[in-house]
Amino acid sequence: MLTAPLRMARGTAVNFAEAQAGWIAARLGRLPERRPFVDGAEIPLFGVPHRVRHHPGARGTVWRENGEIHVAGRAEHLSRRLKDWLTAELRERLVPLVHAKAVRAERPVKRITVRDTRSRWGSCGPDAAMSFSWRLVFAPPEVLDYLAAHEAAHLVHLNHGPRFWALARSLCDGPIEGPQAWLKKNGETLLQYGS
Ligand SMILES: [Zn+2]
Repeated sequence: MLTAPLRMARGTAVNFAEAQAGWIAARLGRLPERRPFVDGAEIPLFGVPHRVRHHPGARGTVWRENGEIHVAGRAEHLSRRLKDWLTAELRERLVPLVHAKAVRAERPVKRITVRDTRSRWGSCGPDAAMSFSWRLVFAPPEVLDYLAAHEAAHLVHLNHGPRFWALARSLCDGPIEGPQAWLKKNGETLLQYGS
C-alpha cells in the first residue's frame, strides 16, 4: 500500500492492497465479535495462539512463558500494557526485516512507524517513511514478510505496476499469493483483538 501520490495508486490492474483496505473499512461498522485483552483471552502472537494470564498482585510488567503471555499490574492497565508490549514485539521483528529488504532494493528507509492504523496494514510515502499497523503482531511470519517486501518495493516504485510487483515478489521469501489470501480471509479478525 502507499500513501502518495494517490493518483498513482488508482486504476492499477493488480491492486490488492488498497482493495483490501477498502474491504476492511466497509466492515468496521459492523464487526460482530470483540476479543478484548482480559485474563484468559487467547491471542495469536505471530500466528501462534497464546493465553493471556493476569497477575494483579505483581508489579507491572509483561513477559512470555510456556505459550502464555503474563501481564502484571492492575486490571484497568492490562489492555494498554499488553498493547504496548505487543507493539514493541512487532517492532522488534518487523524493523530488521524491512531494513534487510530495503538493502536488497538498494534504497534507504527513512522511518518506520508502528501505530493503530485501521484502514491499511502498511504504507510507504515518497519520503521513504513507512507505517505499519501494530495488529500485524497477530499475523503469521510469512504475512509480515510479504508486507515488508511490499512496502520495501514501494521505495523504488510508488505504484502497483508490473515492475513494482516483480520487485515485491523478488523481495518476498516465499510466493506472495499465500500471504495475500491470508490477509483477505483473516484481515478482519486482526481488528477484533484488544478492541
Ligand atoms: Zn502498495
